[in-house]
Amino acid sequence: MRRPIIVGNWKMNMLISSADKWMIGLLDKSHITDQADIVIAPPFTALAVLRERIKGSKVQLAGQNMGSEPVGSLTGEISAAMLKDAGCNYVILGHSERRQYCAETNALLRRKISVAYEQGLNIIFCIGESLDDRNNGRTHDVIKTQLSSGLEGLGISRLGQLALAYEPIWAIGTGHTARPEQVQDVHLFIRSWIKELFGAKCAEYTRILYGGSVTPETSTTLINQSDVDGLLVGGASLKPNSFYDIINSLV
Ligand code: PEP
Repeated sequence: MRRPIIVGNWKMNMLISSADKWMIGLLDKSHITDQADIVIAPPFTALAVLRERIKGSKVQLAGQNMGSEPVGSLTGEISAAMLKDAGCNYVILGHSERRQYCAETNALLRRKISVAYEQGLNIIFCIGESLDDRNNGRTHDVIKTQLSSGLEGLGISRLGQLALAYEPIWAIGTGHTARPEQVQDVHLFIRSWIKELFGAKCAEYTRILYGGSVTPETSTTLINQSDVDGLLVGGASLKPNSFYDIINSLV
């Protein structure tokens, strides 16, 4: 049985005071389900204040990115140990915005994944095709390449620390949520790939999230697909009410 997970990715939004206010708003809700992992990825600057705010609650924190070296002279980078120190249990790696705008390659991501593992961070590894890839029937090929180059050589024991997020680039921030059957098709493909490479047991416990313009209106149908184990939410996570409604689509 895979435990559902809902992740809010705030990207480059929220100053420290608004982040804290947001969290107070969420924690004030009468009931946040304990049937799922609830994870927020704020900007780095808000991590420390949120670490204090979430103490004693079920909410966990994620870094939105991380440097590819454990330590070193890398001005402007943040290390896996720093994320842990600032209260993160998770890190998002391979988001398409970083692949696209920050030139993150599959090889670099493979390196980041192993560094995150060393620090005991749980990884949310994002993969997804462009509109051009989809329109030209290349979706499965692209996904397979991203999976094999990101995860090659990984020991089976490490898979427990990993969740995969299928995020079609054409659905991110566009308002065009992928149709549930498109999502299920790719999630099933991903699970079959895991089965082939790592065995049936790993395929059964690995969580696969969907991300791309998820809203409270679309979340229930998406989460009800048999191979969808969670949601990665960008825009709709910026308001505690809509994020709470998405969490509630699990119950
Ligand atoms: C994201 O950035 O990971 C994302 C899914 O964004 P949005 O929900 O806004 O499409």
